[in-house]
Amino acid sequence: FVEITGLKKSFGPLDVLKGIGLQVNRGDVVCIIGPSGSGKSTLLRCVNLLEEPNGGKIVVNGVELTDPDVDIDSARTKIGMVFQSFNLFSHLSVLANLTVAQRKVLKRSEEESRRIALHNLERVGLSDKVHSMPAQLSGGQQQRVAIARALSMDPEVMLFDEPTSALDPELVGDVLGVMRQLADEGMTMLVVTHEMQFAREVADKVIFMDGGYIVEEGPAAEVIGNPQEPRTQEFLARVL
Ligand code: ATP
Ligand code: MG
Repeated sequence: FVEITGLKKSFGPLDVLKGIGLQVNRGDVVCIIGPSGSGKSTLLRCVNLLEEPNGGKIVVNGVELTDPDVDIDSARTKIGMVFQSFNLFSHLSVLANLTVAQRKVLKRSEEESRRIALHNLERVGLSDKVHSMPAQLSGGQQQRVAIARALSMDPEVMLFDEPTSALDPELVGDVLGVMRQLADEGMTMLVVTHEMQFAREVADKVIFMDGGYIVEEGPAAEVIGNPQEPRTQEFLARVL
């Protein structure tokens, strides 16, 4: 469903992705782990076309994103992204945060975008915050609004870049709970995370990245539970 082959990305002289190959089946959750600077965020940003790859191919649901003739805006609406920082529009209410792109990009009517927004707020357990402003919400609530906003665009894939890293510990569980529910509903997800427990329980596949390569991949029980590569073992010894 997501097929990445030979993906390369450099920033000037710095080779950040050195040939990444990755297959994600429809409905699967792939968790990406690895040390700081290994290229995890760059990989997600390439999948969302926030960065232009220098080589290789990315295909999502049959559409080649790396084809120079692809309609980037249309392709991008099918890929939802949630960042470490919540990136809500601070001057807009929760409802407006969820409707603005539906109206502008998908050309939905006010009524339809509102209905879809309310449905997705309910999915993340925040129906009662529809008229709140972002600053009135906790970090965990803001992140769940960000997830609901992404879901309101009907994405085919959801990308998460350390969605709980900026949260107070007591708020992490609610966000992971929403992500777990999405996974159960069959959403295809690529998740960069340091939450090893989540990866163990939810991931269909875990990828360990280091130095711009995928060093090890497989079921969580193998990659996290019984890593074979010395670099994976070393990394896990530090984070577990
Ligand atoms: P972290 O766990 O700290 O988030 P990461 O694995 O997500 O790390 P990336 O953010 O992908 O790592 O960065 C990989 C490398 O690319 C780093 O050395 C970083 O400094 C560099 N890099 C990322 N974005 C840019 C950019 N826009 N311009 C120049 N260098 C960049
Ligand atoms: Mg990162």
